[in-house]
Amino acid sequence: MTKWVYSFGAGRNEGRADMKNLLGGKGANLAEMASIDLPVPPGFTLSTEVCTTFYDNNRCYPDDLDGQVREALTRVEKAVGRKFGDPGNPLLVSVRSGARVSMPGMMDTVLNLGLNDDTVEGLAAAGKDPRFAWDSYRRFIQMYGSVVLGVDHHRFEEIIDHAKLEAGVIEDTALSAAHWQHVVDAYKDMVAQETGKPFPQDPQEQLWGAIGAVFGSWMNPRAITYRRLHDIPADWGTAVNVQAMVYGNMGNDCATGVCFTRDPSTGENIFYGEYLVNAQGEDVVAGIRTPQPVSKAGAKPGETPMEAVMPQAYADLIRVRETLEKHYRDMQDLEFTVQQGKLYLLQTRNGKRTAAASLRMAVDMAREGLIDQTEAVRRVNPSALDQLLHPTLDPRAPRKLLGKGLPASPGAASGAVVFNADEAESRAGKGEAVILVRIETSPEDIHGMHAARGILTTRGGMTSHAAVVARGMGRPCVAGAGGLSVDYGSQTLSAGGKTVNAGEIITLDGATGEVFIGSVAMVEPAMSGDFATLMEWADKVRRMGVRANAETPLDAETARKFGAEGIGLSRTEHMFFDPQRIGAVRQMIMSQNEAGRRAALARLLPFQREDFRQLFTIMAGLPVTIRLLDPPLHEFLPHADAEMEEVARGLSTDVETIRRRAAELAEANPMLGHRGCRLGISYPEIYEMQARAIFEGALEVAKETGKPPHPEIMIPLIATRRELEITRTQVDKVAEDVFAEAGKRIEYSVGTMIELPRAVLVADKIAELADFFSFGTNDLTQTVFGLSRDDAGKFLPRYVEAGILPKDPFVSIDVEGVGEMMRVGAEKGRLVKPGLKLGICGEHGGDPASIAFCETIGLDYVSCSPYRVPVARLAAAQAALGVQGDRTA
Ligand code: ADP
Ligand code: MG
Ligand code: MG
Repeated sequence: MTKWVYSFGAGRNEGRADMKNLLGGKGANLAEMASIDLPVPPGFTLSTEVCTTFYDNNRCYPDDLDGQVREALTRVEKAVGRKFGDPGNPLLVSVRSGARVSMPGMMDTVLNLGLNDDTVEGLAAAGKDPRFAWDSYRRFIQMYGSVVLGVDHHRFEEIIDHAKLEAGVIEDTALSAAHWQHVVDAYKDMVAQETGKPFPQDPQEQLWGAIGAVFGSWMNPRAITYRRLHDIPADWGTAVNVQAMVYGNMGNDCATGVCFTRDPSTGENIFYGEYLVNAQGEDVVAGIRTPQPVSKAGAKPGETPMEAVMPQAYADLIRVRETLEKHYRDMQDLEFTVQQGKLYLLQTRNGKRTAAASLRMAVDMAREGLIDQTEAVRRVNPSALDQLLHPTLDPRAPRKLLGKGLPASPGAASGAVVFNADEAESRAGKGEAVILVRIETSPEDIHGMHAARGILTTRGGMTSHAAVVARGMGRPCVAGAGGLSVDYGSQTLSAGGKTVNAGEIITLDGATGEVFIGSVAMVEPAMSGDFATLMEWADKVRRMGVRANAETPLDAETARKFGAEGIGLSRTEHMFFDPQRIGAVRQMIMSQNEAGRRAALARLLPFQREDFRQLFTIMAGLPVTIRLLDPPLHEFLPHADAEMEEVARGLSTDVETIRRRAAELAEANPMLGHRGCRLGISYPEIYEMQARAIFEGALEVAKETGKPPHPEIMIPLIATRRELEITRTQVDKVAEDVFAEAGKRIEYSVGTMIELPRAVLVADKIAELADFFSFGTNDLTQTVFGLSRDDAGKFLPRYVEAGILPKDPFVSIDVEGVGEMMRVGAEKGRLVKPGLKLGICGEHGGDPASIAFCETIGLDYVSCSPYRVPVARLAAAQAALGVQGDRTA
């Protein structure tokens, strides 16, 4: 015989906290609390298996369910000394839904079930208070009527409003027993009219009606949508809890409330909660009366804290707080009721908290000895940490919402609205805080994005240009705010009838995607204190190194501040786009012969050498991986007439020649075109110049500091062993030349990106010539899927929504495909060279789920944008501890 029903309370606890899958979170924790002798009204849980069986059997209950429910109900009757449906001394129950995870969209709780025209009299007699009994009855009809019978709740409110008007009172509490009795009559008439049937008087019918409504709500559209959005499988099912009522509405020595064992927004170890005297269930959240604080410390003048009003029950609650924290070893969110001075617990669960609170609690609890340091490291969600590394909006500050987009890059920023990149740059240059507002951004806007405090776009998704670049720069960004419209002509931003002109202030919250009118007060991030402590603990347990992707001195400094252990990717082309250099770069690619190219490269050499000298100096002996030129020449081509003319002048030729040359160099598919090592092979002088700049810069730093840097030179887009052989030989030759000129040597290594499927398949051959591999997972994802990231926005979001792909593969590694490529590449490489150093660079290096995967294939380090370094340090620690991927709590 299958066990469908599990009892709790009054000495029989058949469930435990770890039985959430079977009993739901609420039921499992009710049983757990009862088993550690906390005062829980007795009851029972119909398991989630009842729900799944119900749906598997064409919405029929298992045969033996009825018997098991009767038996459990009889036990509750005995425990409380009342009988269900007994007109003299009735047992009333609540019927409560409860899935594994709390789920909005499920049926609301029904309280006081078992009341009817007869039992209401018994309740009045038992409580010696007819007002309490009639108030309970009208609450029951209202809840059952709206939740189970589907009557619009406004219909009930109209009747109460009418009753209050007639009685000439404002507060519900001012209505007398007789008033409530009238309300009950009016409710019953209205329900009969709405449903075509009298309100059910039989308690058994009521009970099964409510149970059926809970199971039925598992498949309602709201619940289905919620499950789809949160990856909750339909076959988890929900449980139903039936529990003896305790009454918080029996008089002024009664109350109901909710509290957190610590402050859920700051994490401070103070008791935090709200309660209402003479109230029931959800009055606290319903907002009919203003709830009061539980503790004196949390009370403002004029408030009436429970600590003062009900000192005995409050003292009991404080003891419960301690017991629960010790038992669960985590902050609890609990619901309680006080009946005639006696405290009862109705729910507990691990409390939701802000990122800041999560960090503070983890560190505090480890210091208090409640958990150990490793557990503290496990507790904090790395993605949430990201929020703490940027300024955030002060939760108490007032604000005026303009609209909402995607939370594309965390942090908050206020500034004057500007609609183009040049203006953003010039105004920021004068010290003004600006927000760059664009329909969408493109590479030409980079300088403006960098100069702005934050970026807002009305088009594009989480992997749009604006989103990716903003995350890389650590700029807050709200992307794809489709409800807002930008008019470049009239220089306005508007939504819902509100208009913001250029120059007016707005505030972005990149963590929520919200856009506010005016400025909102902010809190600065603290890189010290608890944050530093948790990072220290994380560093003790992680195996993989964490490096940063950085090319500018500012990025390198940020990276070090956040604890990067080196640079894993320095993209030399970013150095080429600088306005001072782009002319020479264009001259190089446009010239028809080697001599012309060499002349232009000679102009670039001192710039590049200085770039590397600065990077090596800042990184002070830590490894620095420099990738030689990678992007297609196509990207550097001059477009505008003025650019063409400038290049023509530089090369002493006419504009027409330049135009022709540009047309020759233009590519149909630049991403798969003349780029990476293919450039180094067609134009060896480019890589020669870069290698020379690296070695000369390194030698200078060695001389200045006495600490020789260790450059790691990385060749991009290798597909064959021969390509690496040619380019490596070039680099080695330049090294020997430079060392001979200087009369000094330094250590260096030469390795390769693994970013093409062919490179993976011949990784053993490539490894013979490589000192290290770095997985370039952006290009590897593009080439393994055969899809270009720039065009993916047209269909990828739909793929993810429809579940064709579990996640955006440019955000989180596609473990099954791209991940398998990495595994094979790593294995083949290490087969030939057991100590081959393996790393990853690219967006994925800062994604917790991808980092967890990198641990499983034994990479030596991950490299990510500077602002994500702390996230990666924590994620790498959790990966070493075997915590699965990213988490939500
Ligand atoms: P939710 O999941 O929405 O929090 P609950 O099932 O926890 O719904 O019920 C909401 C509130 O109803 C509880 O916090 C509690 O105050 C009240 N409640 C539920 N069951 C009982 C009961 N047996 N006795 C008294 N109050 C109850
Ligand atoms: Mg609710
Ligand atoms: Mg609850």
